[in-house]
Amino acid sequence: MDKEMERKCFELAHYIFPDVHETVEDLEVKYPVRRIKKDACVTRYAPSPTGFLHTGALFMALVNKIMAKQTEGIYFVRIEDTDQKREVEGCVKLLTEGLKEFGLTPDEGVISENEEKGYYGPYTQSKRREIYRICAKHLVEKGLAYPCFCTPEMLKANHDAQEKNKVVPGYYGIYAKCRNISIDESIERVKAGEKFILRFRSQGSHLRKTSFIDGARGKIEIAENDQDVVIIKGDGLPTYHFAHVCDDHFMRTTHVVRGEEWISSVPIHLDLANAMGFEPPVYVHAPLILVKEGESKRKLSKRKDKEADVQYFIKAGYPVEAVIEYLYTILNSDFEMWRNKNKEASLDEFKFKLNKMSSAGSLLDMMKLNDISKELISRMSSKEVLDKVLTWSKKYDEALYEVVSKDLEYSRKVFAVERENVKKIRKDIIKWEDIKENFYYFFNELFEENIKESGYIYEFNEKITKDIIKKSLENYIESYNENHTKDEWFANMKEQAEKIGFCTDMKMYKADPDKYIGSTADFAKIIRIAITNKENSPDIYAIMQLLGKNETLNRFKSAKESI
Ligand code: GLU
Repeated sequence: MDKEMERKCFELAHYIFPDVHETVEDLEVKYPVRRIKKDACVTRYAPSPTGFLHTGALFMALVNKIMAKQTEGIYFVRIEDTDQKREVEGCVKLLTEGLKEFGLTPDEGVISENEEKGYYGPYTQSKRREIYRICAKHLVEKGLAYPCFCTPEMLKANHDAQEKNKVVPGYYGIYAKCRNISIDESIERVKAGEKFILRFRSQGSHLRKTSFIDGARGKIEIAENDQDVVIIKGDGLPTYHFAHVCDDHFMRTTHVVRGEEWISSVPIHLDLANAMGFEPPVYVHAPLILVKEGESKRKLSKRKDKEADVQYFIKAGYPVEAVIEYLYTILNSDFEMWRNKNKEASLDEFKFKLNKMSSAGSLLDMMKLNDISKELISRMSSKEVLDKVLTWSKKYDEALYEVVSKDLEYSRKVFAVERENVKKIRKDIIKWEDIKENFYYFFNELFEENIKESGYIYEFNEKITKDIIKKSLENYIESYNENHTKDEWFANMKEQAEKIGFCTDMKMYKADPDKYIGSTADFAKIIRIAITNKENSPDIYAIMQLLGKNETLNRFKSAKESI
């Protein structure tokens, strides 16, 4: 650029930004290179506040957090709210609280609806207007940005012509009408108060290739950018492209981890960074979380899939640790192998590797999540289960909260039946929402409610008739002794079964089943249903012990009376 041109560009920049006096050099001083360990990663999770915390976004935040934590770097949160038309009220609260619930509160940046911390702020883009104006002015001064006066109608005409000519849409080449307006004319039009936006003056050509090393995918070759993208919009705010390049430079981000849908924008970002004289960060494009639809796969959708909202998992009562552990299985292909070898280890001990991150999207596998969750809950102590059930039910199931919190020691023992002094721990709780379904019979109110709603599940046939069941219960009530040891209790059950005509020797029963009403197992089922109204349950002896004599007898009586 010759001296005269340079002077004119400065003049244009002055008319566009008469009140901008700071320079890019000032910003370099204000936001210095971070003093951190040599290979420490500075990462960021940069959501747009357009809805709830998406499960895919939670995954992104997790990758950012792990990378920073593992390298003793910094993970920050930046709110990207430059598209104010799409903004949804209350969203920052949802996002920051969601992150907190999953243990992903950042080291720096936006930490709640109205709080942020750190020296590289503000961390909300709409509050960084001045920074973008300084950077945009810099580009105008260098002749690398220009005002575009095209009206929406003109842009539409451009678009229609491109569609007709079957060429790439956008503002480039012959379609970039304002690119060639002389600086003098631009100055005049700006001075006259004509409306404009600012566009980047790309130096690229789509006929040439550029490449970059994606932190997870390796070398990616892609056509250069030749679009004169908008950098400052009509509302004075930057576009995502420009804001990202300026922010990640001045926030000293080392690794930009984001969804793979951004790969095609990398040439724009490299072009912009180059024009600004910034060294670009390492780009890491993480896989998307997919779901099956018919034969094909698609992105987990905000509108179609309930699992897209992380609150779905919280409300259902999945322990957050289980959800995070599940996300680790998507994160690195060798995670599950590591977990099998290190069953009790903390997730922090797992060495995350960027190059082990899958590049294809990952199918959301609820079965796997359920298995992880079951396993995790089965390893919790009864006290831990009780605490988590109380916290969850207080918020999401008041009726359950009321019965469980009535007698805390009793409730703890309920959860102990499943896990303490047993040969094999039952893995039947996936999420806290399942508690009611699995444990209602320990709580009188819930048991009565169950009977009222569905009645006893006894099935009768020509051998095990109503009368037989009634008689079995009657005999059992008479013989019941709450002081029986487990062996005595079992012996008594057999005795009562035999009296009615059930066979207590499995071999004999199998040899000639027609001879008997049924086996001890059938008799035990009659007892079990009276106590739990379920066909399967943990040890009935343990349940009766916990219910106590009165309640046990009450249940036998009401079962007898109601059939
Ligand atoms: N604000 C962008 C989004 O929500 C984030 C992209 C990025 O991480 O750079 O899609």
